[in-house]
Amino acid sequence: MNIGRVSDHVYLIDTEPLGIPQLIGVYLVVGEGRAVLIDAGAMTGLKNLLKALRSLLSNSNIKKFSIALTHIHLDHGGAAASLLKTLINEGYEGKILVHPRGVKHVVNPAKLWFSALTVLGEERADAMGKPEPIDPEYVRGVKDSEIIDLGNVKVKALYTPGHAPHHVAYIVIPDSVAVTGDALAIHHEGKLHPVTPPPFRADLALKSIERIKEERPNVVTVSHYGVLPWKGEEALERVKSKMLQWFNIVENAVRKGLTDPDEVFKIVLKEDPEVVKIMAARENNPIFKNSARTSLRGILEYVLTTQKRPMKPS
Ligand SMILES: [Zn+2]
Repeated sequence: MNIGRVSDHVYLIDTEPLGIPQLIGVYLVVGEGRAVLIDAGAMTGLKNLLKALRSLLSNSNIKKFSIALTHIHLDHGGAAASLLKTLINEGYEGKILVHPRGVKHVVNPAKLWFSALTVLGEERADAMGKPEPIDPEYVRGVKDSEIIDLGNVKVKALYTPGHAPHHVAYIVIPDSVAVTGDALAIHHEGKLHPVTPPPFRADLALKSIERIKEERPNVVTVSHYGVLPWKGEEALERVKSKMLQWFNIVENAVRKGLTDPDEVFKIVLKEDPEVVKIMAARENNPIFKNSARTSLRGILEYVLTTQKRPMKPS
């Protein structure tokens, strides 16, 4: 089964888009009569997600069901509108919650789809699937530090820009679980690499890591993939040093006059054996093909545009 238990009230559902496991995870938080699903994954994982949700909710008294998005990228919010429509047809009440800047793109995903085709290319966009539009009454902006009240469980929204300007992480209270979407890293079996595609803001991403740290979570989770195998603070420190390691590699390369992403990526591959292992395990599929290289490009573009302002890690 594609369901794992993270804590008393939090489940990890592997959406297995195109049948591929451990690429895109979403997190279900179950409270009293209400549940929040953090992210819905890609359209191509919707069937698996529905199956998992039905088995988790079948014997519960859940009537209200919200979908809180970390951000609107296709691998996080792509299936949200279709999923909510299905659940409403089955008698649930609920809304999609997203950063205010994301609302219009969830309501009408035409522009989002067009930019996915342009930025990712047709193969990768199709591998995730085209999102459906939804009536605006079912989508609302989530505020920074807003508490979503599920009775015995609360979910706190934290604006965490960097990966995307509209990124939101969520803290589940009292479970002390941080559901961080793409604010931190790609994870595979205790190895990490940054998840920093252009237009990436390293300064904001580092602040966002600190913001999550202030909440002192015990358990830290990411979308791609799963629960990080270290205690809260250690997990966040490891993520931060990985980001800084890549940042330093890129800065040194730029100082030597290298600006070609392929050339700089070769140095990363030489200096960071973790990424080579993650790529071998994770990138042999149409959804995340070249995702490490794209993350390198995000950092390189950031360094090139801010060269005169040295980055100060907070
Ligand atoms: Zn993602």
